[in-house]
Amino acid sequence: MEEIIDKRQTLADIKTGEYCVVVSITGHGSFRHRLMEMGFVRGEKVRVIRNAPLRDPIEYEIMQGHVSLRRVEAERVEVVPIDTEIAGNYMFHGTITEETDRIIGRVGKKIRVALVGNPNCGKTSFFNHATGMREKVGNYSGVTVDSKTGYFKYKDYTIELADLPGTYSLTEYTPEELYVREYITEQRPDLVLNIADASNLERNLFLTTQLIDMNVPMVMALNMYDELEKNGDKLDIATLSELFGFPIVPTVSSRGKGIEEVMENIVNVYENLEGYTKHVHVNYGQDLEKSIEAIKQVLRKDPRLSSEYSTRYLAIELLAGDKNIIELIGRYDNAEEARRVASEQRALIERQYKEDAGTIVAGAKYGFIRGALLETFTIGKDKSKQPAYSVDRILTHKWLGFPILIFFLWFMFQMTFTLGAYPQEWLEMLFSWLGGCADRFLPDGIVKDLLVDGIIAGVGGVCSFLPNILILFFFISVLEDTGYMARAAFIMDKLMHRMGLHGKSFIPYIIGFGCSVPAIMATRTLENKKDRILTIITVPFMSCSARLPVYLLLISAFFTKHQGLVLTSIYLLGIVMAVVTSLIVKKVSFKNERDQFVMELPPYRIPTFRNAVIHMWDKSVQYLKKMGTVILVATVIIWALEYFPRHSPEIDRYTAQIESLAGDSSVDEESREEQIRQLELDRSACQIENSYIGRFGKFVAPVFAPLGFDWQMGVSIITGFAAKEIVVSSMGVLYHSDAEADENSSALQRSIREHKWQSGPNVGKPVFTPVVAYGFMVFILLYFPCVAAIAAIKKEAGTKWMVFTIFYTTTVAWIAAFIIHLFA
Ligand code: GDP
Ligand code: MG
Repeated sequence: MEEIIDKRQTLADIKTGEYCVVVSITGHGSFRHRLMEMGFVRGEKVRVIRNAPLRDPIEYEIMQGHVSLRRVEAERVEVVPIDTEIAGNYMFHGTITEETDRIIGRVGKKIRVALVGNPNCGKTSFFNHATGMREKVGNYSGVTVDSKTGYFKYKDYTIELADLPGTYSLTEYTPEELYVREYITEQRPDLVLNIADASNLERNLFLTTQLIDMNVPMVMALNMYDELEKNGDKLDIATLSELFGFPIVPTVSSRGKGIEEVMENIVNVYENLEGYTKHVHVNYGQDLEKSIEAIKQVLRKDPRLSSEYSTRYLAIELLAGDKNIIELIGRYDNAEEARRVASEQRALIERQYKEDAGTIVAGAKYGFIRGALLETFTIGKDKSKQPAYSVDRILTHKWLGFPILIFFLWFMFQMTFTLGAYPQEWLEMLFSWLGGCADRFLPDGIVKDLLVDGIIAGVGGVCSFLPNILILFFFISVLEDTGYMARAAFIMDKLMHRMGLHGKSFIPYIIGFGCSVPAIMATRTLENKKDRILTIITVPFMSCSARLPVYLLLISAFFTKHQGLVLTSIYLLGIVMAVVTSLIVKKVSFKNERDQFVMELPPYRIPTFRNAVIHMWDKSVQYLKKMGTVILVATVIIWALEYFPRHSPEIDRYTAQIESLAGDSSVDEESREEQIRQLELDRSACQIENSYIGRFGKFVAPVFAPLGFDWQMGVSIITGFAAKEIVVSSMGVLYHSDAEADENSSALQRSIREHKWQSGPNVGKPVFTPVVAYGFMVFILLYFPCVAAIAAIKKEAGTKWMVFTIFYTTTVAWIAAFIIHLFA
């Protein structure tokens, strides 16, 4: 058998013009995945187009196409050479047939497996039972660091088992740990069999998280399962396996139980059978993930490195300050830069957390384990052995969890609006003072109008929400930094699953009440695409704070009683729409996807003010950018569309009237001023109606007519495409209230209350009734989010989902407002 095994060759050994068949791909998961996507799957025939000794890359023909691989990549593809004659007739049809079997021969049927686990978890017992060998069972002395090899026959596979020394971790510097780590990275077994002691899961799974980081193909034997059962503990193995992304088999290796099943799973994983593995990451939290990404970017620059190692794994280890990895990357091109970036990032993290980076990484790993166990593990009789997360048992308790969560949310929103009211007032004062100054010191004319009515009024109105947004983000950051948000996501998980979502979507939703843009960015913490897309397209239904002024204006104008109830109903409607949408889209677009991921429960930390401010700032930057760009530009454009054209016969008639009245001394001063003021108001109303935006509004008015909206409302809605904050200021201009256009302005309230239909069937009747006002609020809640949010959706989910969102939200808004209008 041995000599056949030694005949293994790699793709890099095959000469120009010769044929071979792919046997397997060694190396870490994402590398294998990439090659498999290129067509290098087991059984596939490859012809070498060109391979000269020093040539790099090498060119191949596979599946009727040409691909080139770097030499380092080709060395990871194990093949058997076949001669031209056989190759001519050989055709791979996607399944391993007898012919393929014959060609690949016994070579391909050998699977090299490394047994990795804590000391005394039963590796040697497993090894002995499986191989029939008699290795010494018992405490490993640790003097000789070595491995034993034995074989197990399963169907026509030969499974080569290597019994490695026991280790608790792969990061410390004991000889055993180094040995095991180097065995995995240098010897590259086809698969790692992680043996874990089921009676001491929390500690055993730490090693597992490191194997997950290394991204090696894996099967887990949950050994000492008899002990677990004896303790009366319960473990949901199927769910745990789903969460971790590899098969988990209960075993009692001292009695040889479960060995066959382990082998069966090893073969299935080795053959890449559908549904046996999925790629899982331990999520290290926003700060660490950012640092990991930065280091990864540098490591990726050397293709040799990224084909040999998982760059994510190296980045995590470098961040944690692993001396051996720092040494290991020394032989690659970008080692210097990688070291520098890694130590910068490490310093950054340590400054933020005031803790050693290695400890923070380990803490995050335990968070992953805790999350997985809280979902799957129930302690039996011996309560003293309760894993160390009793606080979590309360915060995520079936009954206690929700009231606690609701209290925190209530507190957060309460703070946002009560604390925010003060700076909001100051900002409003500041902008009206600025407007006043500009009014006084600038000469009359277009520049002054642009500055006062356009930029200062528009941007000022938006700026006054900045304090609310900042405070909301501050509280969200604090809740995230303490670790509570992860618990909130955990208890929301079951509920969110009902709507086809993941508990982690809860965090973007909460942020969405502030602003959709950072909320959409926050969906990056969701591991799978389905959850991400569903969350992204439903986040806009969480009523963002920019919509609030519209509600406040209309509610205070038309609802004297139950104002809080009306407001709450709007927010709830948004949530209901999100649920319904998510369910529908899931049914239609993601029918067969059912994935579960671990909800990490990071360690509780006392948040520092500094970190909370940094995180608040991260989230707010998007919003600030939107103000400086989109809103500013939109304000100017809307102002201009409203401002021009300046003249029409009717406007000129008003102007003439005003002038003649001003020169008329027969009327007493007071009533003359009053008349002039009235005429000026009428003139600006006439001017707006005649302006470009007014004409456009009238043009699209029929679309809004079935909803009971007049053309001014239509125009306000359209201006809200740019940003929802603009809706109220547009209404201020269009309903020509003479006071500042803000939601507290009772003048604007009065003028919309008094506004009558000027034409149509209802002429003379008030435009706004409570029903129309409610319909308008619902429309504002549901329609097209805003350009900034749409841009974020395009970036995170792609054009298809962006287009979907644009049409879906607007259609839904129209239908909802139409239904409401039926009650009028
Ligand atoms: P290793 O250090 O991982 O190689 O572990 P060993 O195979 O040497 O086993 C350590 C001890 O655990 C021995 O006394 C075994 O008999 C015992 N053991 C191994 N597997 C099991 C199991 O599934 N159940 C129980 N109850 N004991 C086991
Ligand atoms: Mg042993």
